[in-house]
Amino acid sequence: MIKELSVPKRTIMTPGPVEAEPRVLRALATPILGQYDPAFFEIMGEVSTLLKTPFETKNKQAFVVDGTSRSGLEAAMFGLIEKGDRVLIPAYGRFGYLFVELAERAGAEIKLIEKEWGETFEPTEVIDTIKEFNPKIVAMVHGETSTGQIQELKEIGHFCRKNGCLFLVDAVATFAGAPVKVDEWCIDIAIGGTQKCLSVPSGMAPITYNERVEECLTDRYQMELGLSDQFRNDHFIQSNYLDLSQIQRYWGAERINHHTEMTSMIYGIHEGLRIVQQEGLEARYARHQLNEKAMMEGLIAMGLTLFGNPKSKMVTVTCVEIPEGVDGEAVRETLLTEFGVEIASSFGSLKGKIWRIGNMGYSSQKANVLQTLGALEAAILLHGGKIHVGKAVAKALEVYHR
Ligand SMILES: *Cc1c(COP(=O)(O)O)cnc(C)c1O
Repeated sequence: MIKELSVPKRTIMTPGPVEAEPRVLRALATPILGQYDPAFFEIMGEVSTLLKTPFETKNKQAFVVDGTSRSGLEAAMFGLIEKGDRVLIPAYGRFGYLFVELAERAGAEIKLIEKEWGETFEPTEVIDTIKEFNPKIVAMVHGETSTGQIQELKEIGHFCRKNGCLFLVDAVATFAGAPVKVDEWCIDIAIGGTQKCLSVPSGMAPITYNERVEECLTDRYQMELGLSDQFRNDHFIQSNYLDLSQIQRYWGAERINHHTEMTSMIYGIHEGLRIVQQEGLEARYARHQLNEKAMMEGLIAMGLTLFGNPKSKMVTVTCVEIPEGVDGEAVRETLLTEFGVEIASSFGSLKGKIWRIGNMGYSSQKANVLQTLGALEAAILLHGGKIHVGKAVAKALEVYHR
Protein backbone atom coordinates (compact mmCIF):
# COMPACT_ATOMS: atom_id res chain seq x y z
CA MET A 1 0.00 0.00 0.00
CA ILE A 2 1.17 3.51 -0.73
CA LYS A 3 1.94 5.33 2.50
CA GLU A 4 0.48 8.63 3.62
CA LEU A 5 2.06 11.71 2.10
CA SER A 6 5.25 12.71 3.85
CA VAL A 7 7.41 15.53 2.51
CA PRO A 8 10.98 16.34 3.55
CA LYS A 9 11.65 19.61 5.39
CA ARG A 10 12.99 22.22 2.99
CA THR A 11 14.32 25.74 2.97
CA ILE A 12 13.38 26.91 -0.50
CA MET A 13 15.69 29.65 -1.72
CA THR A 14 14.86 29.46 -5.43
CA PRO A 15 13.10 32.11 -7.52
CA GLY A 16 9.89 30.12 -7.07
CA PRO A 17 8.03 28.21 -5.99
CA VAL A 18 8.99 29.27 -2.46
CA GLU A 19 7.71 28.17 0.95
CA ALA A 20 4.05 29.04 1.48
CA GLU A 21 2.94 31.20 4.39
CA PRO A 22 1.72 28.86 7.17
CA ARG A 23 -1.41 31.00 7.52
CA VAL A 24 -2.11 30.45 3.81
CA LEU A 25 -1.75 26.69 4.20
CA ARG A 26 -4.27 26.79 7.03
CA ALA A 27 -6.70 28.90 4.99
CA LEU A 28 -6.56 26.30 2.22
CA ALA A 29 -8.23 23.82 4.58
CA THR A 30 -11.35 26.01 5.02
CA PRO A 31 -14.60 24.23 3.98
CA ILE A 32 -15.74 24.63 0.37
CA LEU A 33 -18.42 27.11 -0.68
CA GLY A 34 -20.44 26.85 -3.87
CA GLN A 35 -19.26 29.10 -6.68
CA TYR A 36 -22.56 31.04 -6.72
CA ASP A 37 -22.86 31.31 -2.95
CA PRO A 38 -23.15 35.01 -1.99
CA ALA A 39 -20.68 34.33 0.83
CA PHE A 40 -18.16 33.20 -1.77
CA PHE A 41 -18.83 36.22 -4.03
CA GLU A 42 -17.99 38.39 -1.06
CA ILE A 43 -14.62 36.64 -0.66
CA MET A 44 -13.91 37.03 -4.40
CA GLY A 45 -14.75 40.74 -4.06
CA GLU A 46 -12.29 41.05 -1.19
CA VAL A 47 -9.57 39.31 -3.20
CA SER A 48 -10.18 41.78 -6.03
CA THR A 49 -9.87 44.72 -3.61
CA LEU A 50 -6.80 43.29 -1.87
CA LEU A 51 -5.01 42.69 -5.21
CA LYS A 52 -5.04 46.42 -5.95
CA THR A 53 -2.64 47.14 -3.08
CA PRO A 54 0.49 45.34 -4.35
CA PHE A 55 -0.39 46.37 -7.93
CA GLU A 56 -0.73 49.99 -6.67
CA THR A 57 -3.73 50.59 -8.90
CA LYS A 58 -7.19 52.06 -8.93
CA ASN A 59 -8.17 49.81 -11.87
CA LYS A 60 -11.67 48.39 -11.66
CA GLN A 61 -10.44 45.05 -13.02
CA ALA A 62 -8.30 42.94 -10.70
CA PHE A 63 -8.83 39.20 -10.32
CA VAL A 64 -7.04 35.90 -10.80
CA VAL A 65 -6.86 33.66 -13.84
CA ASP A 66 -6.93 30.00 -12.80
CA GLY A 67 -3.68 28.41 -13.88
CA THR A 68 -0.07 29.32 -13.14
CA SER A 69 1.27 32.76 -14.00
CA ARG A 70 1.79 31.67 -17.58
CA SER A 71 -1.99 31.35 -17.93
CA GLY A 72 -2.33 35.04 -17.08
CA LEU A 73 0.33 35.96 -19.63
CA GLU A 74 -1.37 33.81 -22.26
CA ALA A 75 -4.86 35.17 -21.47
CA ALA A 76 -3.54 38.72 -21.78
CA MET A 77 -1.67 38.15 -25.03
CA PHE A 78 -4.40 36.09 -26.71
CA GLY A 79 -7.07 38.50 -25.51
CA LEU A 80 -5.42 41.55 -27.01
CA ILE A 81 -3.62 40.32 -30.13
CA GLU A 82 -5.48 39.91 -33.39
CA LYS A 83 -3.68 38.22 -36.25
CA GLY A 84 -1.28 40.63 -37.89
CA ASP A 85 -1.16 43.05 -34.93
CA ARG A 86 2.25 44.54 -34.28
CA VAL A 87 3.84 43.52 -31.00
CA LEU A 88 7.18 44.82 -29.76
CA ILE A 89 9.08 42.53 -27.40
CA PRO A 90 12.28 43.79 -25.82
CA ALA A 91 13.79 40.61 -24.35
CA TYR A 92 16.64 40.50 -21.84
CA GLY A 93 16.20 36.93 -20.57
CA ARG A 94 14.18 33.76 -20.79
CA PHE A 95 10.76 35.16 -19.97
CA GLY A 96 11.00 37.74 -22.74
CA TYR A 97 11.18 34.81 -25.14
CA LEU A 98 8.01 33.37 -23.61
CA PHE A 99 6.29 36.53 -24.87
CA VAL A 100 7.71 35.82 -28.32
CA GLU A 101 6.27 32.29 -28.26
CA LEU A 102 2.85 33.54 -27.18
CA ALA A 103 2.78 36.38 -29.70
CA GLU A 104 3.78 33.94 -32.46
CA ARG A 105 0.93 31.63 -31.58
CA ALA A 106 -1.49 34.56 -31.57
CA GLY A 107 -0.35 35.42 -35.10
CA ALA A 108 1.29 38.75 -34.30
CA GLU A 109 3.79 40.58 -36.44
CA ILE A 110 6.66 40.60 -33.95
CA LYS A 111 9.56 42.95 -33.52
CA LEU A 112 12.09 41.45 -31.15
CA ILE A 113 14.93 43.48 -29.70
CA GLU A 114 17.44 41.75 -27.47
CA LYS A 115 19.89 42.51 -24.69
CA GLU A 116 22.81 40.50 -23.51
CA TRP A 117 21.74 38.41 -20.47
CA GLY A 118 22.64 40.25 -17.27
CA GLU A 119 21.71 43.69 -18.64
CA THR A 120 18.47 45.63 -19.14
CA PHE A 121 17.28 48.17 -21.71
CA GLU A 122 17.82 51.90 -21.61
CA PRO A 123 14.27 53.28 -21.92
CA THR A 124 15.35 55.27 -25.00
CA GLU A 125 16.31 52.06 -26.83
CA VAL A 126 12.75 50.78 -26.43
CA ILE A 127 11.18 54.17 -27.14
CA ASP A 128 13.17 54.59 -30.38
CA THR A 129 11.98 51.17 -31.53
CA ILE A 130 8.37 52.06 -30.71
CA LYS A 131 8.76 55.15 -32.92
CA GLU A 132 10.06 53.07 -35.82
CA PHE A 133 7.78 50.04 -35.51
CA ASN A 134 4.56 51.64 -34.23
CA PRO A 135 3.30 48.57 -32.34
CA LYS A 136 -0.17 48.01 -30.90
CA ILE A 137 1.35 46.29 -27.85
CA VAL A 138 4.68 46.53 -26.05
CA ALA A 139 5.26 43.45 -23.89
CA MET A 140 8.01 43.51 -21.27
CA VAL A 141 9.19 41.57 -18.24
CA HIS A 142 9.63 43.61 -15.05
CA GLY A 143 11.85 41.24 -13.09
CA GLU A 144 13.71 38.65 -15.19
CA THR A 145 14.17 35.68 -12.88
CA SER A 146 16.51 34.01 -15.37
CA THR A 147 19.15 36.74 -15.03
CA GLY A 148 18.18 38.50 -11.78
CA GLN A 149 17.70 41.84 -13.55
CA ILE A 150 14.92 44.39 -13.15
CA GLN A 151 13.78 46.62 -15.99
CA GLU A 152 13.01 50.33 -15.53
CA LEU A 153 9.44 50.72 -16.84
CA LYS A 154 8.13 54.17 -16.01
CA GLU A 155 9.53 56.11 -18.95
CA ILE A 156 8.54 53.41 -21.43
CA GLY A 157 5.04 53.25 -19.93
CA HIS A 158 4.56 57.00 -20.24
CA PHE A 159 5.71 56.96 -23.84
CA CYS A 160 3.31 54.11 -24.65
CA ARG A 161 0.42 55.99 -23.05
CA LYS A 162 1.13 59.15 -25.06
CA ASN A 163 1.49 57.22 -28.28
CA GLY A 164 -1.50 54.92 -28.02
CA CYS A 165 0.20 51.56 -27.54
CA LEU A 166 -0.79 49.12 -24.85
CA PHE A 167 1.89 48.33 -22.28
CA LEU A 168 1.72 44.71 -21.08
CA VAL A 169 4.00 43.74 -18.17
CA ASP A 170 5.05 40.41 -16.65
CA ALA A 171 5.47 41.31 -12.98
CA VAL A 172 5.31 37.69 -11.84
CA ALA A 173 8.59 37.71 -9.94
CA THR A 174 8.37 41.18 -8.41
CA PHE A 175 4.69 41.32 -7.39
CA ALA A 176 4.48 41.73 -3.58
CA GLY A 177 8.28 41.69 -3.19
CA ALA A 178 9.33 44.90 -4.94
CA PRO A 179 7.32 47.95 -6.10
CA VAL A 180 5.05 47.35 -9.11
CA LYS A 181 3.38 50.72 -9.67
CA VAL A 182 0.77 49.92 -12.30
CA ASP A 183 -0.90 53.36 -12.39
CA GLU A 184 2.17 55.52 -11.89
CA TRP A 185 4.15 53.66 -14.56
CA CYS A 186 1.22 53.65 -17.05
CA ILE A 187 1.05 49.87 -17.26
CA ASP A 188 -2.14 48.92 -19.08
CA ILE A 189 -2.17 45.27 -18.07
CA ALA A 190 0.01 43.54 -15.47
CA ILE A 191 0.32 39.91 -14.46
CA GLY A 192 1.62 38.91 -11.03
CA GLY A 193 2.57 35.60 -9.43
CA THR A 194 1.41 33.68 -6.39
CA GLN A 195 4.15 31.13 -5.73
CA LYS A 196 6.89 33.74 -5.67
CA CYS A 197 6.83 36.83 -3.44
CA LEU A 198 3.23 36.31 -2.30
CA SER A 199 4.07 32.83 -0.92
CA VAL A 200 0.78 31.24 -1.91
CA PRO A 201 0.94 27.90 -3.78
CA SER A 202 1.29 27.90 -7.56
CA GLY A 203 -1.92 27.75 -9.59
CA MET A 204 -3.30 31.28 -10.00
CA ALA A 205 -2.29 34.34 -11.99
CA PRO A 206 -3.20 37.69 -10.43
CA ILE A 207 -4.03 40.19 -13.17
CA THR A 208 -5.12 43.81 -13.40
CA TYR A 209 -5.95 46.07 -16.34
CA ASN A 210 -7.44 49.47 -17.08
CA GLU A 211 -10.32 50.74 -19.26
CA ARG A 212 -8.12 50.88 -22.35
CA VAL A 213 -7.65 47.13 -22.18
CA GLU A 214 -11.25 46.58 -21.13
CA GLU A 215 -12.45 48.51 -24.18
CA CYS A 216 -10.23 46.47 -26.44
CA LEU A 217 -11.61 43.22 -24.96
CA THR A 218 -15.25 44.39 -25.12
CA ASP A 219 -14.96 45.66 -28.70
CA ARG A 220 -13.54 42.37 -29.74
CA TYR A 221 -16.15 40.40 -27.83
CA GLN A 222 -18.96 42.36 -29.50
CA MET A 223 -17.38 42.10 -32.89
CA GLU A 224 -16.90 38.36 -32.46
CA LEU A 225 -20.59 37.94 -31.66
CA GLY A 226 -21.48 39.20 -35.12
CA LEU A 227 -18.82 37.26 -37.01
CA SER A 228 -18.98 33.99 -38.83
CA ASP A 229 -16.95 31.14 -37.34
CA GLN A 230 -14.72 31.20 -40.37
CA PHE A 231 -13.91 34.90 -40.05
CA ARG A 232 -13.34 34.52 -36.34
CA ASN A 233 -10.95 31.62 -36.82
CA ASP A 234 -9.07 33.59 -39.43
CA HIS A 235 -8.53 36.55 -37.12
CA PHE A 236 -8.21 35.35 -33.56
CA ILE A 237 -6.73 32.66 -31.45
CA GLN A 238 -9.73 31.29 -29.65
CA SER A 239 -9.16 30.17 -26.12
CA ASN A 240 -12.28 29.54 -24.15
CA TYR A 241 -10.75 28.74 -20.76
CA LEU A 242 -8.35 31.69 -20.96
CA ASP A 243 -10.83 34.14 -22.49
CA LEU A 244 -10.17 37.24 -20.42
CA SER A 245 -13.46 38.93 -21.33
CA GLN A 246 -15.41 35.89 -20.11
CA ILE A 247 -13.34 35.59 -16.93
CA GLN A 248 -13.97 39.29 -16.31
CA ARG A 249 -17.72 38.74 -16.71
CA TYR A 250 -17.51 35.81 -14.30
CA TRP A 251 -15.76 37.95 -11.66
CA GLY A 252 -18.02 40.95 -12.35
CA ALA A 253 -21.69 41.67 -11.61
CA GLU A 254 -22.94 39.38 -14.42
CA ARG A 255 -21.46 36.24 -12.83
CA ILE A 256 -21.67 34.40 -16.15
CA ASN A 257 -21.10 30.68 -15.95
CA HIS A 258 -17.50 30.20 -17.06
CA HIS A 259 -15.40 27.81 -14.97
CA THR A 260 -15.82 26.54 -11.40
CA GLU A 261 -13.74 28.88 -9.32
CA MET A 262 -11.08 27.13 -7.25
CA THR A 263 -12.61 27.87 -3.85
CA SER A 264 -9.67 26.68 -1.76
CA MET A 265 -7.12 28.61 -3.80
CA ILE A 266 -9.20 31.78 -3.44
CA TYR A 267 -9.08 31.25 0.33
CA GLY A 268 -5.32 30.88 0.04
CA ILE A 269 -4.72 34.05 -1.94
CA HIS A 270 -7.17 35.92 0.31
CA GLU A 271 -4.97 35.11 3.29
CA GLY A 272 -1.73 35.78 1.39
CA LEU A 273 -2.96 39.22 0.40
CA ARG A 274 -4.18 39.93 3.92
CA ILE A 275 -0.64 39.25 5.13
CA VAL A 276 0.65 41.82 2.61
CA GLN A 277 -1.93 44.30 3.89
CA GLN A 278 -0.94 43.69 7.52
CA GLU A 279 2.79 43.89 6.92
CA GLY A 280 2.43 46.98 4.73
CA LEU A 281 4.06 47.41 1.33
CA GLU A 282 6.93 49.58 2.52
CA ALA A 283 7.86 47.25 5.38
CA ARG A 284 7.59 44.24 3.08
CA TYR A 285 9.86 45.77 0.46
CA ALA A 286 12.32 46.86 3.19
CA ARG A 287 12.44 43.30 4.56
CA HIS A 288 13.27 41.95 1.10
CA GLN A 289 15.98 44.60 0.68
CA LEU A 290 17.61 43.83 4.02
CA ASN A 291 17.72 40.09 3.35
CA GLU A 292 19.04 40.72 -0.14
CA LYS A 293 21.83 42.89 1.26
CA ALA A 294 22.82 40.28 3.84
CA MET A 295 22.85 37.56 1.18
CA MET A 296 24.90 39.64 -1.28
CA GLU A 297 27.47 40.72 1.29
CA GLY A 298 27.75 37.17 2.58
CA LEU A 299 28.38 35.80 -0.92
CA ILE A 300 30.96 38.49 -1.65
CA ALA A 301 32.71 37.82 1.71
CA MET A 302 32.94 34.17 0.64
CA GLY A 303 34.88 35.36 -2.39
CA LEU A 304 32.12 34.73 -4.94
CA THR A 305 31.25 37.07 -7.81
CA LEU A 306 27.70 38.32 -8.31
CA PHE A 307 26.36 38.02 -11.86
CA GLY A 308 24.81 40.82 -13.89
CA ASN A 309 24.75 44.59 -13.88
CA PRO A 310 24.58 45.67 -10.21
CA LYS A 311 22.69 48.87 -11.15
CA SER A 312 19.69 46.89 -12.36
CA LYS A 313 19.84 43.95 -9.97
CA MET A 314 16.52 42.52 -8.82
CA VAL A 315 15.94 42.55 -5.06
CA THR A 316 14.08 39.25 -5.14
CA VAL A 317 16.74 37.18 -6.95
CA THR A 318 20.51 37.11 -6.54
CA CYS A 319 22.57 35.49 -9.28
CA VAL A 320 26.09 34.39 -8.44
CA GLU A 321 28.82 32.88 -10.59
CA ILE A 322 29.72 29.27 -9.94
CA PRO A 323 33.41 29.30 -8.92
CA GLU A 324 36.09 27.91 -11.26
CA GLY A 325 36.35 24.14 -11.36
CA VAL A 326 33.24 23.55 -9.25
CA ASP A 327 30.36 21.40 -10.49
CA GLY A 328 27.35 23.61 -9.83
CA GLU A 329 24.86 20.76 -9.92
CA ALA A 330 26.87 18.69 -7.42
CA VAL A 331 26.83 21.64 -5.02
CA ARG A 332 23.07 22.04 -5.43
CA GLU A 333 22.58 18.35 -4.72
CA THR A 334 24.67 18.54 -1.53
CA LEU A 335 22.70 21.58 -0.42
CA LEU A 336 19.44 19.75 -0.90
CA THR A 337 20.34 16.34 0.48
CA GLU A 338 22.59 17.37 3.40
CA PHE A 339 21.00 20.69 4.40
CA GLY A 340 17.48 20.64 2.91
CA VAL A 341 18.29 23.92 1.15
CA GLU A 342 17.20 24.41 -2.44
CA ILE A 343 18.74 27.01 -4.76
CA ALA A 344 18.32 27.16 -8.54
CA SER A 345 20.49 26.69 -11.60
CA SER A 346 19.85 28.71 -14.75
CA PHE A 347 18.77 28.48 -18.37
CA GLY A 348 20.29 28.71 -21.83
CA SER A 349 23.69 30.34 -22.06
CA LEU A 350 23.86 30.72 -18.26
CA LYS A 351 23.32 27.03 -17.54
CA GLY A 352 26.25 25.72 -15.49
CA LYS A 353 27.63 29.26 -15.11
CA ILE A 354 25.49 30.76 -12.37
CA TRP A 355 23.32 29.82 -9.41
CA ARG A 356 20.18 31.78 -8.72
CA ILE A 357 19.21 32.39 -5.11
CA GLY A 358 15.68 33.56 -4.41
CA ASN A 359 14.66 36.12 -1.82
CA MET A 360 10.91 35.91 -1.96
CA GLY A 361 8.00 36.27 0.42
CA TYR A 362 7.94 33.89 3.36
CA SER A 363 11.32 32.46 2.34
CA SER A 364 12.89 35.92 2.66
CA GLN A 365 13.94 35.57 6.31
CA LYS A 366 17.12 36.13 8.26
CA ALA A 367 17.33 32.50 9.42
CA ASN A 368 17.07 31.29 5.82
CA VAL A 369 19.77 33.66 4.60
CA LEU A 370 22.20 32.58 7.34
CA GLN A 371 21.43 28.90 6.82
CA THR A 372 21.87 29.16 3.06
CA LEU A 373 25.20 30.97 3.32
CA GLY A 374 26.58 28.46 5.83
CA ALA A 375 25.37 25.48 3.82
CA LEU A 376 26.64 26.91 0.53
CA GLU A 377 30.10 27.50 1.97
CA ALA A 378 30.32 23.91 3.22
CA ALA A 379 28.99 22.49 -0.05
CA ILE A 380 31.42 24.47 -2.21
CA LEU A 381 34.33 23.36 -0.01
CA LEU A 382 33.20 19.76 -0.25
CA HIS A 383 33.29 20.00 -4.04
CA GLY A 384 36.76 21.51 -4.20
CA GLY A 385 35.99 25.21 -4.57
CA LYS A 386 38.50 27.80 -3.40
CA ILE A 387 36.70 30.35 -1.26
CA HIS A 388 37.25 32.43 1.87
CA VAL A 389 36.20 30.23 4.76
CA GLY A 390 34.35 31.41 7.85
CA LYS A 391 33.51 34.86 6.57
CA ALA A 392 30.07 34.71 4.91
CA VAL A 393 27.73 34.07 7.83
CA ALA A 394 29.58 36.54 10.04
CA LYS A 395 29.35 39.21 7.35
CA ALA A 396 25.61 38.64 6.90
CA LEU A 397 25.10 38.82 10.68
CA GLU A 398 26.98 42.09 10.67
CA VAL A 399 24.50 43.44 8.09
CA TYR A 400 21.59 42.51 10.36
CA HIS A 401 23.25 44.12 13.38
CA ARG A 402 24.23 47.34 11.63
C1 LIG B 1 8.04 32.22 -12.74
C2 LIG B 1 7.86 33.19 -13.83
C3 LIG B 1 6.90 33.01 -14.84
C4 LIG B 1 6.09 31.75 -15.01
O1 LIG B 1 5.29 31.47 -13.95
P1 LIG B 1 4.51 30.09 -13.83
O2 LIG B 1 3.76 30.28 -12.56
O3 LIG B 1 5.54 29.04 -13.76
O4 LIG B 1 3.62 29.95 -14.99
C5 LIG B 1 6.75 34.01 -15.77
N1 LIG B 1 7.51 35.11 -15.74
C6 LIG B 1 8.45 35.32 -14.80
C7 LIG B 1 9.27 36.56 -14.83
C8 LIG B 1 8.66 34.36 -13.82
O5 LIG B 1 9.61 34.55 -12.89
